[in-house]
Amino acid sequence: MSGIFGVYSKDKSVNIAETIYYGLYALQHRGQQSAGIAVRDKDLIEWYKAKGLVPEVFKASDLDKLPGDAGIGHVRYSTSADVSKGTIEPLVLKYISGYMAIAKNGNIINANQLREELEANGCMFHTTNDTEVLAALLTKFRIGSEHIEDSVEQMVKYIHGSYAITMITPRYLIGLRDSLGIMPLCIGKINDSTYIISSESAGIDAVGGKFVRDVEPGELVLIDANGIQSRRLFECKKSSLCIFEHVYFARPDSIIDGASTHDARVNAGRILAKEHPVDADVVIGVPDGGTDMAYGYAKESGIMAAAGLLRNKYVGRTFIAPNQSDREIAVKIKFNPVKTEVKDKRVVLIDDSIVRGTTTKILVKMLREAGAKEVHLRICSPPYKFPCYFGVDTSTRGQLLASNNDKEAICKWIGADSLEYISYEGIMNAPINSKTGFCTSCFTGKYPMEVPKEV
Ligand code: SF4
Repeated sequence: MSGIFGVYSKDKSVNIAETIYYGLYALQHRGQQSAGIAVRDKDLIEWYKAKGLVPEVFKASDLDKLPGDAGIGHVRYSTSADVSKGTIEPLVLKYISGYMAIAKNGNIINANQLREELEANGCMFHTTNDTEVLAALLTKFRIGSEHIEDSVEQMVKYIHGSYAITMITPRYLIGLRDSLGIMPLCIGKINDSTYIISSESAGIDAVGGKFVRDVEPGELVLIDANGIQSRRLFECKKSSLCIFEHVYFARPDSIIDGASTHDARVNAGRILAKEHPVDADVVIGVPDGGTDMAYGYAKESGIMAAAGLLRNKYVGRTFIAPNQSDREIAVKIKFNPVKTEVKDKRVVLIDDSIVRGTTTKILVKMLREAGAKEVHLRICSPPYKFPCYFGVDTSTRGQLLASNNDKEAICKWIGADSLEYISYEGIMNAPINSKTGFCTSCFTGKYPMEVPKEV
């Protein structure tokens, strides 16, 4: 999971780097390990990137050094590569037609195999990032192709996995979404002169733009002074947006493939209350994902909702922290119960998911220490049992609590009085007006494409 944001403008008064900066700021929740911006100025591309959050990485003087008419940015959550400086995106490279910059959200499953094949043919790599493999394929196919869109069409035949990509080339700002639409990507506009490519519509809102439409699964979008051109690279029979975009990843103010994330979460809470009622005094959501869900649960059940858990906004998402010990330290400094809302109450605690369970176990303990009489855990996604190969860092079943334990064992280990999950049908019905199907592989073990065998 990462965030990508691209801007092209005919209007010379638009500050491209600054617009990308604010877009990335709005997408910060999608990745906190690094941030980067690359801007095209005539034939050259200048960039600035570093580890850290968007406001830590960029000073106003850095943005001033990036003039131009088109650019892309990236906030990073790494799955497969290290976060040394060379791997931070956007990657910028020189190829036969000039300079190119590329940034990706997703995971190329066959990247290592492609890398070996390219290396065997004399290609050299500077990073361990799978996006560099895409760039290498593009430059290879650019030789002999008349247009960059032909090279992209060649490249996508070889890559296997999930991806939403934005690029700048000497002519275009480009958006590309994988054939199943696993990762979100949309197009926005500011007036008639400025176009935006963004992982989420909330990024477009943040820069004063208007949402135009989603990039369709398997669609390549090329933007230049003539406007938007579109090419269908794949015929998508069954789209598979990651259901966790609505459950956890995306901002609640984003609309993805027609469905409001906020509404999906509230609706999931309502469905959960119908499926698994409980006698209790107060409903508390685990911020941020569980907040909207708790609101839905409270509305449906008639039990009062309370802001009983305070989240320290200055600590990143624990789930995104890259290793287990960081996660455990982070959760203790991230949440604190509001004792007056909890003391002597029977609490329904609503969370979006249980992956490793570390966070939930500590939260239940905290609520009890704050005086809760009972803690009933209600989860707005079905048990997360199978690894994700498409961008979420859960590569083996050993890391997944529900893969190795039944509901009773999990409830006991976490220390809750009861534990219930929303049903599969329930979560599938939660997004309203969605124009897409969903990837639900981490619940079912049925993947929308071939995936590696677990070792
Ligand atoms: S396996 Fe789960 S987390 Fe991964 S893309 Fe599919 S729904 Fe999302």
